[in-house]
Amino acid sequence: MNKKKRFETMLIHKGYSSQDFHDSLNPPIFHSSTFTFSTAEQGEKRFTGEEEGFIYSRLGNPTVRVLEERMAALEKGEAALAFGSGMAAVSAVLFHFLYSGCHILCSRGVYGCTFGLLDLLHKKFGVTHTFSPMQTAEEIEAAIHDQTCCIYIETPINPTMELIDIRLVTDVAKKYGIPVIVDNTFCSPYLQNPLELGADYVIHSATKYISGHGDVIAGILIGKNKEDMQKIRMTTQKDIGGIIAPFDAWLLLRGLKTLHVRMDRHVENTRKLANYLKDHPFVEDIIYPGDPNSPHYPIMKKQMKAPGGMVSFKVQGGKDEAQEFMNRLKLIKIAVSLGDAETLIQHPATMTHAVVPSDVRKSMGITDNMMRLSVGLEAIDDILEDIEQALGN
Ligand SMILES: *Cc1c(COP(=O)(O)O)cnc(C)c1O
Repeated sequence: MNKKKRFETMLIHKGYSSQDFHDSLNPPIFHSSTFTFSTAEQGEKRFTGEEEGFIYSRLGNPTVRVLEERMAALEKGEAALAFGSGMAAVSAVLFHFLYSGCHILCSRGVYGCTFGLLDLLHKKFGVTHTFSPMQTAEEIEAAIHDQTCCIYIETPINPTMELIDIRLVTDVAKKYGIPVIVDNTFCSPYLQNPLELGADYVIHSATKYISGHGDVIAGILIGKNKEDMQKIRMTTQKDIGGIIAPFDAWLLLRGLKTLHVRMDRHVENTRKLANYLKDHPFVEDIIYPGDPNSPHYPIMKKQMKAPGGMVSFKVQGGKDEAQEFMNRLKLIKIAVSLGDAETLIQHPATMTHAVVPSDVRKSMGITDNMMRLSVGLEAIDDILEDIEQALGN
């Protein structure tokens, strides 16, 4: 029974033993803010760390701990920390490395609020950042300097679906001793494992594929070193305090059980939808890493198990044509977020990336006629029919 289990089995069982909890098949939800000590001396030992055990739920909670152990195993790390949002996880890991005057090297595109956080850090504290395409070792090295405290990347990049070769980045970073953080939200641990490619930390907005049901806001940070993660638990997580509620951790554990089955269908539906869009006369372009003509296709083959459940595309025309198309949709919902059972569409230029200055947005390839689809789990023919009637002919 001690033999290491396969990914799909770990999604369902890892980190939980029913014998420890009255034989309950599912982990109980420990809605308790604090934990009692049987003696004052025991309290002292819990605080010094001489004795294992819970103290106060901002420092750890049994339901949350099951989720953390499961996520650590799924991402091939030593430890994980759960947060109340993806952004709380991003903030905690960045604050772990920041010092006044430091520099963060970033992929050319990052999630809108990550962009906002970097801007805030710059304006308030003088922490600088550089956005780099990171397509070659030279390009990465050119952007590193003495104050570079970490490298932060997203791949695939939202919504332009550009990929970054994680191994290329981590090989360069190792030469300079700089830690690499990868936002793996778009892939989930089922499709890509950045720690295996040399990264030091992985973050997820668990709001997306890990939940899978559009009912939780949460984040996870996974690290390859247990002691280092314990430091983050006892500093930036504990003292900034963006922790997850036990009920939300339980919802994520429930979502995780079907991650593999859901992802397979997301991938299959997206493949069919991308194929359909590619040939439609009113579609100017599709942006999808599973397209063999995509310049990023070789990186996808190298580091992802499959091209994922997201596709961006551009209609003929501009903002008006894009918005009219969206308004004609009936089954597909207009909403930000992704990874849910429902197919969702959004307009990056006026929604998720509205905060990005328009010239920067254009240089990233986010045009006004571009839309991003998070392909859901409905029957693909119903999704296609909805798109078809909205595109018109
Ligand atoms: C949604 C998202 C985040 C932020 O996560 P929240 O759970 O909304 O705080 C970060 N990165 C990516 C890629 C995302 O899609």
